[in-house]
Amino acid sequence: MLGMLILEISVFQASSESDMERRAYAVWVSEVMLQQTQVATVIDYYTKWMKTWPTVQHLAMASLEEVNEKWSGLGYYSRGRRLYEGAQKVVRDLGGRMPRTAEDLQKQLPGVGRYTAGAVASISYGQAKGVVDGNVIRVLCRLRRIGADFTSPAVTDALWNLANNLVDRDRPGDFNQAMMELGATVCTPKKALCGECPLQSLCRAYRKVEQDSSSLLSKTVKRRSKTQDVSISDIEECAAAASCPLCLQSGDHWDCSLGVTNYPRKSAKKPSREEQTVTCVWERFGEQGDPEYLLVQRPQKGLLAGMWEFPSVLLEKATTAGEREEILCGRLREVTGSNISVIKDLQLVGEVRREHGELRSSGHPGKCWLMAPSPCRSSTSSLTSTRRTWSTTCRADP
Ligand code: SF4
Repeated sequence: MLGMLILEISVFQASSESDMERRAYAVWVSEVMLQQTQVATVIDYYTKWMKTWPTVQHLAMASLEEVNEKWSGLGYYSRGRRLYEGAQKVVRDLGGRMPRTAEDLQKQLPGVGRYTAGAVASISYGQAKGVVDGNVIRVLCRLRRIGADFTSPAVTDALWNLANNLVDRDRPGDFNQAMMELGATVCTPKKALCGECPLQSLCRAYRKVEQDSSSLLSKTVKRRSKTQDVSISDIEECAAAASCPLCLQSGDHWDCSLGVTNYPRKSAKKPSREEQTVTCVWERFGEQGDPEYLLVQRPQKGLLAGMWEFPSVLLEKATTAGEREEILCGRLREVTGSNISVIKDLQLVGEVRREHGELRSSGHPGKCWLMAPSPCRSSTSSLTSTRRTWSTTCRADP
């Protein structure tokens, strides 16, 4: 789904921009925004972004704070930061000119991977580069009956080779969009519309399903006429299949009821890592009587670099309520630089857990304990460092 949506925006922008630089920049922005976010959410962000920073030069002159502010709510903030760093690099080191090939885009721009580089190069510059996203993976795995784990290095390489070999040399951008759109609208994850598919005659998964049903029919007819069964050989029966890194392996089950949706395959998901954090929501009342919240800035590198958050501590082992209060108090002293003693005032506000990327309050053992000291007046604190601030707005982005 994602690929098609990315390109819907990209093509719109591409066709309205005569300047190749601007076009490449616009495609780059849209691709990055859509990497982890649905198009319905992205459109508004994209429009505002392009209005504020219509060229790579405009973006390079912004501050990281402004970029984070504009990105606020989209999540995965490192994407915005990398766009910003990339723009600065283009202006500072590359003479204001975006790299002109997929290879250079990937090599020179932070956060630009193989997919984004291929999409920008094929759409903006007409370079004959294929792209492989979730939709393309599905189409290619079905077309070629690639039954091994599609995240394995062997399958990943095979898919990229296929995409690069198949891409139309004259209209690579259109071809890539068509592949992604086919995966998003016809060759869909749960219900492929093979009857409407222009690739049906080339599709091995479709052929396998057809063979299965005619084999079943043949067996039924033969059983009725009391003759011997005839089996139809398929790809798993070829001698090389047992050792092939792309085929279904002998232990993998082919489920007839799933048809073509037996492909693509992925290894069982690893259980997600569980982390526990204790967080302080410290509220005070400002001069006007409005509530303000203590926020601290994260380090400039790493996850959510430079973002503001409530003071918090990642717990490394199981803790008691008292230990959590002690730990949090230590963090607050570190943050405020003063020997405050708020432990007696700390009270449990609630527990929050993250489920499928969303934060929910919960009565279950939580992953994040929120604690709050008693409200105080603003005059009682003298926080001046740029690494911490009192803010009248606090919004939790997942
Ligand atoms: Fe997908 Fe069916 Fe088309 Fe094959 S024929 S590519 S499985 S929609």
